[in-house]
Amino acid sequence: MKPQKSSIPKWVDFHCHLDLYPDHERLIVECDQAGVATLAVTTTPKAWRRNRELAASSRHVRVALGLHPQLVAERESELPLLERLLEETRYVGEVGLDAGPQFYRSFEAQERVFKRVLEACSEQGGKILTVHSVRSVGKVLSHIERLLPTDRGTVVLHWFTGSPSEARRAVELGCYFSINSQMLSSARHRNLVASLPADRLLTETDGPFVQIEGRPTRPATDIPKTVQALALLREQSPEQAAAQIISNLRGLVRT
Ligand code: MN
Repeated sequence: MKPQKSSIPKWVDFHCHLDLYPDHERLIVECDQAGVATLAVTTTPKAWRRNRELAASSRHVRVALGLHPQLVAERESELPLLERLLEETRYVGEVGLDAGPQFYRSFEAQERVFKRVLEACSEQGGKILTVHSVRSVGKVLSHIERLLPTDRGTVVLHWFTGSPSEARRAVELGCYFSINSQMLSSARHRNLVASLPADRLLTETDGPFVQIEGRPTRPATDIPKTVQALALLREQSPEQAAAQIISNLRGLVRT
């Protein structure tokens, strides 16, 4: 009998735009070799099938079906496609709201899309969503509270930048938080990350948007460093922090 390669991951990147790198396929190989359980998020429903094909034989890469709030102004018409594809996946993202100055004009459309996505996820049940909440944490949480009961799906707040009280509210709503290297380089966000419950933490790169030393972050190269920084912040050993994050991922996918 051939020895089986381990399917147990060592690391977690719960939010990475693999399809926005020039070497998408190479990244999948790297994630499999290094044992990084990676959630490849998509920004439009049209991008989903190709992502799924490329990751079909991957041990550690999973693909999420998304419609990015920053693209809703041009892509709202793809919402019916997202609804049709939803049955084929457990993972949804990137979705959410963005009230930053560049995207505020489409905020009403963003809310229509996000609410519909939450309703559809709730109808089907068992989905795991990676959610963007720039300058809109309160609204994001209110929609989740109304439309996605905790027994119908689980939200991972990606690159969370809300206040301590918003973080507490998110925890009460059952949310997880995926932490990237950029969050750990800001004093305010470090304090917030230090205060989050240990059993709700995951890691992410949000590559290629997050850069390290002038180049886009990569899951296999950079997640171990993020885990190390997180461990320092939370006064754990890097091994403890890594084990905690893997155990959190397990808990999340078991729900
Ligand atoms: Mn993203």
